[in-house]
Amino acid sequence: MDSGERSVFVFSSSAKCVSENEEEPGMQLVLEKVILSSPSRNEQLGGGGRLGQLRRPPRRRPRQCRGFNPNPPWVLPLGETSADRSGAMRPRGGFGPGPVWAQRVRQLEHRARTQEERIIVLETENAALHLKLAAYQGWAGRGVNEILQLYSSHGQQQKFQRSSVVIYLHEAMKSLKQDVKSLRSFALELSKDFQRQYKACLYQVLTAVQGIQLQNEAMQMFQMKAFDLEQSLQEVTERYEREKQKRRALHNSLVELRGNIRVHCRIRPSLPFDHAAGHTISQDRHRNSLENVAYAIDDETVLVKCSRPGHAPINKTFQFERVYSATESQDTVFADVAPLLTSLLDGYNVCIMAYGQTGSGKTYTMLGPQLEENLAFVSEDESELGIIPRATQELFRLISEKPPGSYWVEVSVVEVYNNEVFDLLAKDSCGKASGIRRDVVTTREGKSDVPLLTYETVANASEFLHLVIKGLQLRVRHPTLVHAHSSRSHLVVTLTITTIVSGDNFGTSWEDEQINQRLNKEVSCTYPQKRDSKSTSSSRASSPTQLEAAEKPKQVKTRLQLVDLAGSECVGMSGVTGAALRETSCINRSLSALADVLGAIAEQRSHVPYRNSKLTHLLQDSVGGDAKLLVMLCISPSQKYLTESMQSLGFGTRARQVQRGQIKKRNLPLLSKTK
Ligand code: ADP
Ligand code: MG
Repeated sequence: MDSGERSVFVFSSSAKCVSENEEEPGMQLVLEKVILSSPSRNEQLGGGGRLGQLRRPPRRRPRQCRGFNPNPPWVLPLGETSADRSGAMRPRGGFGPGPVWAQRVRQLEHRARTQEERIIVLETENAALHLKLAAYQGWAGRGVNEILQLYSSHGQQQKFQRSSVVIYLHEAMKSLKQDVKSLRSFALELSKDFQRQYKACLYQVLTAVQGIQLQNEAMQMFQMKAFDLEQSLQEVTERYEREKQKRRALHNSLVELRGNIRVHCRIRPSLPFDHAAGHTISQDRHRNSLENVAYAIDDETVLVKCSRPGHAPINKTFQFERVYSATESQDTVFADVAPLLTSLLDGYNVCIMAYGQTGSGKTYTMLGPQLEENLAFVSEDESELGIIPRATQELFRLISEKPPGSYWVEVSVVEVYNNEVFDLLAKDSCGKASGIRRDVVTTREGKSDVPLLTYETVANASEFLHLVIKGLQLRVRHPTLVHAHSSRSHLVVTLTITTIVSGDNFGTSWEDEQINQRLNKEVSCTYPQKRDSKSTSSSRASSPTQLEAAEKPKQVKTRLQLVDLAGSECVGMSGVTGAALRETSCINRSLSALADVLGAIAEQRSHVPYRNSKLTHLLQDSVGGDAKLLVMLCISPSQKYLTESMQSLGFGTRARQVQRGQIKKRNLPLLSKTK
């Protein structure tokens, strides 16, 4: 056993004494730990430490403890030996033990003293240990107290914390309960309010429903009434339309019977170039001049209303077969023209001519803006096409419904410029289109003719337009103050439609006789498909062989003349000089010649002055003959052009009054595809 283990043993027993005395069992463990971690007992006792100084403490009685013998057998009182006690070692009277015994006693005494010293040392150690123990005990006690205090303070803290959480939760619960309570009361109020409002709304809805029901009933009644009125209005409108159509048909028949010239009037919209001030008029006059004075008040009446300072007020109406307002389209205008094309294939000659002052819309109405501006046919926007391209399209559409090969169409394009006739399809020796001058002659039958005039056969509308565009490129145009692209010539496009008829079906009337004679002169004996696509009127002169051949199938010709007249113009306003002035005077003279011709026919004079102008001479057959003639009067609406507009309206009115006798029809067979 080493010294450490011994120490444990010794101090454990000592500690046991202490712990038993103080009844603190936990202390034993504490002390054991303290001593185990301290230096060995031998070191403590043997060293010169604090305990070494305690080696001779004042002698005191050791503390008694249970199980502790204060007089162990090996402790003798001073002056008393162990032999005294046993009696066996005590010397008997006078007879001493001698020196051995004395020796022995001395030894024993010495031993006893040694023992005693030893005891003292041990007691001293013991006391020191006790002191130390007491110190440790005190320290341990304080520690335990501190621990206990810590325990208790920790517990208190926890308890405090717990209680504060509980208080907090309690408070929160209290406020939540309060909230729930107020919410509940709020919800209650809300539901009461909702019920109140619901009842009010329900009442309102019921009232509204009742109102609606009443209104519905009233509405149904009104609807029924409106329906009845609509129906009667529709009936009246339909009747009106029927009556109008009947009236128009009757009027047309009357016009045809009388041989009247149909006159339609188109009022164009105000255009930007109307606002350009002429250099001869003042600002005030210019402002007034922009006012519109010509209106279409219905589809048959034009009203001219104007009051100018220094002039008598004008308030005049003009009646025509048809009046187009500024908003009416090219479609609408053509719709009224289209029936004339049916007449054309039915055997009537037809002439449509646009008459009016420069810039009033003649070329726009006859050709359309594309052909006029760019001299090109733009197929994308066909809505702007004028009468000439549309009439050709319609004509070829109608022909396509007839038996193939029974009709063919030839075109001539002529310009009357400075009282001369130019063939716009003629080519010079180099084959270049050059607008060769031609003459107008009167045939023995009293018809007008242009010898050597170029005719081109066309198979469809686009071929026709191609030719017209070619011709237009040669047409003389000159800018004037009124119109930048003013045409300085009258354009006459003629489509000659030749129809093959069998001899049996050919008519026998005087008219037919005339036609027969003419055909014998003009018709070539060849079939259309064999014809040269280009011919001139002189090349049509018949030969004996041709006449023989012509006996079998005969041909009837009808003619569609489309005329874009040059505009009448006031020289002062157009501001033309020099060559253009001559053009203007030629134009004006030819137009007055036209008016004179109409006047002579209207008055049924024996002499009609067709030859006063190349224009009237060229148009003789259409104006004075047997053609259905439509004059499209073109009017500018502004006051600026009042004089010219009044002149045009007067011309139209006179033209309407012309009675040429019944229009003659060529005796054509009824051709149909099924034939
Ligand atoms: P004119 O041949 O009578 O001298 P134009 O036909 O050349 O006159 O017309 C003059 C201008 O007015 C052109 O720019 C043309 O496009 C325009 N114009 C004429 N009539 C109408 C119309 N009804 N709607 C729109 N523009 C028109
Ligand atoms: Mg023109």
